Amino acid sequence: NQHLSAFDPEIARLLDAELTRQQTTLEMIASENFAPVAALEAMGTVLTNKYAEGYPGKRYYGGCEVVDQVETIAIERLKQLFDAQFANVQPHSGATANAAAYHAIAQAGDTVLGLDLANGGHLTHGMKLNFSGRLYNVVPYHVDDDGIVDMEEVASLAREHRPTVILAGWSAYPRHLDFAAFRAIADEVGAKLFVDMAHFAGLVAAGLHPSPLPHAHIVTTTTHKTLGGPRGGAILTNDEEVAKKMRSAVFPGQQGGPLEHVIAAKAVAFKMALEPEFTERQQRTLDGARILAERLLADDAKEAGVQVLSGGTDVHLVLVDLRNSELDGQQAENRLDEVGITVNRNAVPNDPRPPMVTSGVRIGTPALATRGFGPDEFAEVADIIAEALKPGDVDVESLRKRATVLAERFPLYPDLPRFMS
Ligand code: PLP
Repeated sequence: NQHLSAFDPEIARLLDAELTRQQTTLEMIASENFAPVAALEAMGTVLTNKYAEGYPGKRYYGGCEVVDQVETIAIERLKQLFDAQFANVQPHSGATANAAAYHAIAQAGDTVLGLDLANGGHLTHGMKLNFSGRLYNVVPYHVDDDGIVDMEEVASLAREHRPTVILAGWSAYPRHLDFAAFRAIADEVGAKLFVDMAHFAGLVAAGLHPSPLPHAHIVTTTTHKTLGGPRGGAILTNDEEVAKKMRSAVFPGQQGGPLEHVIAAKAVAFKMALEPEFTERQQRTLDGARILAERLLADDAKEAGVQVLSGGTDVHLVLVDLRNSELDGQQAENRLDEVGITVNRNAVPNDPRPPMVTSGVRIGTPALATRGFGPDEFAEVADIIAEALKPGDVDVESLRKRATVLAERFPLYPDLPRFMS
């Protein structure tokens, strides 16, 4: 018997345990979501067995007639979703999509302007230990005292350093970026504009966030955050020259065989994102974040030392600033974990506490919106969070009960079979 439960009960039990964890807690890590069952099914298939180096119609292996069709469908759906002329669905992750995008438009040693990690940028936007920081001459830009990207600084750094690439995108930033302004600066200094929409791609797909496609030379995304699909990456462009370079930058530039089982799941997720229900879900995601921000801006939260970076949100996340709180980021993360709400601590600009502790938490609503939460449930979650972030003794048990009531009201993956029954 080759089934998982018989062959490897140790792993089977852990897979069941993770399903239980996801079902019984409230997932509010801003970069996470719940892939649809149809996408999980597509991933657990024999497509994982297939080598398909190259692209549909131009492979380096035989037997690609089926995966060619799968990949072509994924590409066409992605193009439709973002109104883009060219799309590549092969990047294994957001990080490899970014590596390929740099590779398509820059040479090692070139100068790249990216948002500083502690100000909301991603590791691949130039952190010194990351490939991006090692391969490129990275000049970071920052947010101003109100937590908004300082476009004057971007312009003056661009004029001073004449970068090859200006990267606009973020992992922890609660507002829209001005893509047209970024493009104007890029054009002025002869740089290419690279937008990493990994976080907000689902909002763009739903038409609830400005699209970077009309402005950027190249756009990367993950497929598993607001977009709600399988873990993976993708690249888009409307520029034919860049499209050619992106193609060879992904393969053979960055990767060997594509993960066709994941590409099949991406196709499923893109189909789902083209449906009207997806727009409705993204609207609930945005409403939830706004409700949370409003709750955390209330007087009792302020008295507890809680602040909201930038004073609110336009997107699917809220950045909680705990610089005035007795709780640090680590303690807040632990406290919420005890209550049954999963978040991640996050450095805030000019954070006085060390990077492993931090003075902030990043709280996102996409996963709970996927679960079905609407304004009433988000109001209740927001209240639980506000209570949990008060210093001193907090009645963790009663808050946990309130979180459990919500989790039970919106069952997650109710029909998914367990390996060990
Ligand atoms: N780009 C941004 C803006 C991200 O936030 C992330 C992940 O958090 C990535 C890229 C990397 O994606 P992955 O973790 O799939 O490599």
